[in-house]
Amino acid sequence: MRTQLDQLVTSALQQGSAVPAFTCYDFTTALAVVGAAEESGRGVILLVAPKTAATPNGLRLIAALRGLADAASVPVAVQLDHASDLQVMADAVGAGADSVLADGSSLPYEDNVALVVAARELLGADVVLEAELGGLAGDEDRAFSADQPAAEAGVSVAGLTDSAQVEDFVARTGAQLLAVAVGNVHGKYKGEPQLRWDVLQDIAVRTHIPLVLHGASGIPAEELVKAAAMNVGKVNFNTELRTGVLATLQEQLPAHRADGENLQALLGHWNRSAGEFAGATLATLTR
Ligand SMILES: [Zn+2]
Repeated sequence: MRTQLDQLVTSALQQGSAVPAFTCYDFTTALAVVGAAEESGRGVILLVAPKTAATPNGLRLIAALRGLADAASVPVAVQLDHASDLQVMADAVGAGADSVLADGSSLPYEDNVALVVAARELLGADVVLEAELGGLAGDEDRAFSADQPAAEAGVSVAGLTDSAQVEDFVARTGAQLLAVAVGNVHGKYKGEPQLRWDVLQDIAVRTHIPLVLHGASGIPAEELVKAAAMNVGKVNFNTELRTGVLATLQEQLPAHRADGENLQALLGHWNRSAGEFAGATLATLTR
């Protein structure tokens, strides 16, 4: 069943759990994620990248994800991730997204506030709004750039969320969830990720709205488990899911080409890889 994202997250936090959110560039991955959620009896969030939502086919994918959420036996929410373009937000909501991350984190503070306020005015009261404070380094859709060899690749941590801004930001934007920068990055980490628990705690005491951790791929499970105690109710995964699917496809491709160009069976491996990752993540974040 489709659910309000903020309600899903709040009820998870009441149990000491967090809800994982997975980027779905395609329907195969989304089917695997929802299947894993149904198997574990837990709710889940399907994320759509803004580059996906900016295309006509991407809007059709959102409509399909909404249908999948409606038909699921567990609560599922569909969210437009990291949007800064109001038209893309309106189109995504029109296509069926229930929630939007209105992301002005790369803008000056006042412009960030103004973007979230404008998103609320445009989208109305029913759409759940997440906002982001503090610049998250890295590219959401690519783990490292093509001119960087993978072995040396990685993203260094950029600006941390300034906890002194949190109360004012939440009050003025009316955001229902807050994405924070506390040592997390998008993509591949340069060295060992070091979450700044002191900064996270400082943020958590200044607002009651659920916090969101992006770039969770690469953060050890035992760290993620502690996050719900700091009011982190939503944790976003993308890189690790892609890495697993791509490695599986690379490994399985030759045998499936040889087996009469068997795309159907190859998609089965894709489904299993994404489903196992989603299932393991749900287990990690659930108390
Ligand atoms: Zn993100």
